[in-house]
Amino acid sequence: MLRSVILAAARSSRVERLVETAPYTRDVVRRFVAGTGTDDALRATRELVAEGLTVTLDHLGEDTVNPEQADATRDAYVTLLAALSAAGLTPAAEVSLKLSALGQMFDEQLAYENARAICAAAAQAGTTVTLDMEDHTTTDSTLDILAKLREDHPGTGAVLQAYLRRTESDCRDLAGAGSRVRLCKGAYREPESVAYQSAREVDKSYVRCMNILMSGDGYPMLATHDPRLIAIGEDRARWFDRGPDRFEFQMLYGIRPEEQSRLVGEGYTVRTYVPYGTEWYGYLMRRLAERPANLAFFGRALVSR
Ligand code: FAD
Repeated sequence: MLRSVILAAARSSRVERLVETAPYTRDVVRRFVAGTGTDDALRATRELVAEGLTVTLDHLGEDTVNPEQADATRDAYVTLLAALSAAGLTPAAEVSLKLSALGQMFDEQLAYENARAICAAAAQAGTTVTLDMEDHTTTDSTLDILAKLREDHPGTGAVLQAYLRRTESDCRDLAGAGSRVRLCKGAYREPESVAYQSAREVDKSYVRCMNILMSGDGYPMLATHDPRLIAIGEDRARWFDRGPDRFEFQMLYGIRPEEQSRLVGEGYTVRTYVPYGTEWYGYLMRRLAERPANLAFFGRALVSR
């Protein structure tokens, strides 16, 4: 219920203005977002890589409504990739992108061309791209664009969301050699017709999908902070004899950092998803929706001091 309210607020421009202008918002945002510019992204990446982590960077923004904005997002990624390469931070750092920020809502071809330009810049920088997955109305389009991108850039990764009923089948399709798949629970509000609604059903689906990916020939990226799922991931890695070069764990910047370090200490590859940029509102609201404790933390920061 609370989750639905917060996810509805994520789409409200009135709430967005309220949150953005609240006096202590910035402190809360900093916990989950590395900063606003390329320099902030580089600083956070350097710090994480020094701790033995790998990184995927997300230039924040989604639901772009005009070609100029989409081009600006593409250019921001190209600039970032050149800077990462110049700083010697590739291939430890790669990028994650949302096709909706590249024009998918109004021109799929434009989104594909922008994503292709970013994949080319990533190849030149010696690293890879992963396509984030957004709400279920975009899944087919995103997987179609992925298939086209992989013709020239086979290392391009995709995200599959365990809460969608279709995802086991998508995992089977994408479990082949060379395929990089990030498995997450899913962060959007989805109808029962397409998505499991209870946490238990989503967790069971996650395990079924994980089994498909970990027993397949691709490169699974297990994106979760859930202690039970991480333990099952460790178990499957032993069972399917997957070392640190054959799968990885992924977590979000600012969430369970001590668990990220523990896994690095155990010898696993761990990638931190680092968002940066000025358009942090939708991202922050999804993180708050995941965990009421974060909402309390946010509320305290807004009213205290
Ligand atoms: P949950 O059941 O939400 O959490 C399990 C436990 O983890 C909690 O009990 C708590 O201890 C801890 N935890 C979880 N969330 C938080 C938090 N916000 N703050 C503090 N502690 C927390 N979703 C998409 O729909 N599309 C994507 O492309 C996408 N990419 C992602 C990339 C990465 C690297 C990660 C880690 C997640 C991504 N997600 C994406 C979000 C994902 O779908 C979930 O919404 C999110 O990861 C929370 O689910 P969970 O597996 O951590 O489990």
